Parts: sequence; C-alpha cells; structure tokens
Amino acid sequence: MENKMDISNLTMEELEAYIEELGEKKFHSKQIYKWIHKIGVTHFDEMTDISKSLREKLKERAYILNMEVIEVQISKKDGTMKFLIRLNDNAAIESVLMKYNYGNTICVSTQVGCKMGCKFCASTKEGYERNLSGSEIEGQIQTIQRYTNERISNVVYMGIGEPLDNYDNVIKSIKLINHPLGLNIGARHLSLSTCGLVPNIYQLADENTQCTLSISLHATLDEKRKEIMPIANRYSIKEILDACKYYIKVTGRRISFEYALIYGKNDSYEDAMRLVKLLRGMIAHVNLIPINEIKEKEYKKATEKSVESFMNTLNSCGIVTTVRRELGSDIDAACGQLRKKYIDKNLD
Ligand code: SF4
Repeated sequence: MENKMDISNLTMEELEAYIEELGEKKFHSKQIYKWIHKIGVTHFDEMTDISKSLREKLKERAYILNMEVIEVQISKKDGTMKFLIRLNDNAAIESVLMKYNYGNTICVSTQVGCKMGCKFCASTKEGYERNLSGSEIEGQIQTIQRYTNERISNVVYMGIGEPLDNYDNVIKSIKLINHPLGLNIGARHLSLSTCGLVPNIYQLADENTQCTLSISLHATLDEKRKEIMPIANRYSIKEILDACKYYIKVTGRRISFEYALIYGKNDSYEDAMRLVKLLRGMIAHVNLIPINEIKEKEYKKATEKSVESFMNTLNSCGIVTTVRRELGSDIDAACGQLRKKYIDKNLD
C-alpha cells in the first residue's frame, strides 16, 4: 500500500482528472466510480468492463480502501449492530447500524478519538489521534453493507469525533455518499451532529448541502454547559443559536437539538422552560436522549418520569420534542465504549 493513493477518496471530479492524467479516456472514471462506490468492490480485477491494461496501471499506483470488521455486537432487544472497524493504520473506530421502520440508519465516526472532551462521552477518554479521510467515513457504509448485505438509506454523523472539526473530509464524504453513481443517498437523508463549532456552522450553511444539522446542546445556561462540554468555553449558547438561525435562513432546513438528560444536572422544569425560551420562534425539533451510563463517569441517567415531564413541558409550549428510542441498550451502545474496551484490552 506504500506510496499508493487511495482511489476511493477521490470525488467524481477528482477521479475524472486523475484518469485523464493517466492518459485514459474520461468515461472510464464513471465505470470505476460505480465499481467502487455503488457495487463496493475492493480489487481492481473485479472491474470486468475495464481493460486489463488500465487495471494494471491502477494497481501500480492506487488501492481501493478496504476496512476490516474486528468485532460486532448485536443487540438481542432490537437488532442494533455495533461494529468495531480496523483502519489501514490499525486504528479502530466504531459504527452502529440501527433499524428503523423508515430504513437502515448508520451512525458513522469522523475522527479517531475526539478533542472535544464532553464529560458524558467515552470517545474522549483516550484523546484524539487523527481525522478520518472522506473515504474512511464513506467506507464505514461500504463495509457494513458488505458485511450485512443490507442497504443503508440514512446516515447520521454522530459516532466518534466532532464532524465539524474534520470539516473538509466530512464535506468530501458527503459528496462521495451523495453521488448518483455511488451510494446515492440524498443529503436530506444525512444528519450532521456538532457540539457547536460556530464558524463551521456558518461555513456549512453557505455550502447549502441540505443536510440536517443537529446541535448537541445539553444545557440551557452557559455556566452549566461549561461543566459538561468544554467547547462552551469557546462559544456561548447565544452564538450557537445565532449560527443556527443563519443555517435555517440559508438552507430552509429545520434544526434538531440534542439534549442528553442527566439526572439532577439539566433535567428540571426550569431547564425545560429555559429551553422553550431559547428555541421559541425557530424551526426546531428537540431530541431528548436518556444518556447511557458510562462506568468511569459520574453522570446518571435521568429518571423515566423526569424525561416524560421534560418532554411534556416542551411539547405543551409548542416545541416539537421526542425521546430518542434507546437502541442497543444491552450492548456497548454509547459512542466510544466498544473502542475503549478494545484499547484497554490491547494495552493490558
Ligand atoms: S460527544 Fe461527540 S463531540 Fe463530545 S467528546 Fe463525544 S464524540 Fe466528541
């Protein structure tokens, strides 16, 4: 693989330029793109409508990304599958396949580890290693489709890493996933979650990709937010909401606010009312998440009763609110938990 280029990481435009640079006809790029991104082959020799000489040329210079599934956990309760995937440099990431009645949804990772340090998250514990490339993000879908033989119709960027901290590669992955000759998953079926990197929210709005933007808010006061999310020291809730209003204005898309309910921390009636005030007048949706308890962290799950009354308060004030179904509660479903176990085991 040394010195070879990952051809799966080229967008259609980049692939066209590359094929022309090799002195070949441009139309081959469409065939090659389809083999890699629609059919999901991992060897050039599987490209039966490409001449042997071109295949040889490609083999000398490039490779097709092929990531390996190290471990799979399957929930007995709802069939949610959690994958531990090995990258070419032996780093490990997680992806989760969830089955909803509107289709198969995959939650992808965007970085190896994460810099953001959210207190309730296991991904952050081992620190940050590196960004994933566009193809490593798209490749999680390819790998899982190959493994399960199932089609993925929705993608949420909510796994390990902060997507907007790996901006260019995430945008590239969206282009790869979107392309009609590839997976052909429309931007409206992609949901990008951020802990609130304000400048990048503006940048994403101007990109006008039509992705759903989802903000991990988790608190209604800056001081409280700072306690659980260090990013709150950089950007205030007001700055985040101003950026969200701009996103809505430019894209016309509704924003989803993620709110992890933590027992005794952010689950009171006053918190709910403050949230109503913050979101009033915005096209927004609130997704309440009963957090998964992580062994090492001090945070406890809010009680069922407080989750319900929090939801009722918001709904009765006209803020559309749902509680996220707790998928895979019998496996290490919170992001980063399976990877953490793997790292711990390999360090023993
Ligand atoms: S919740 Fe997301 S942004 Fe925060 S540490 Fe975990 S992976 Fe990073």
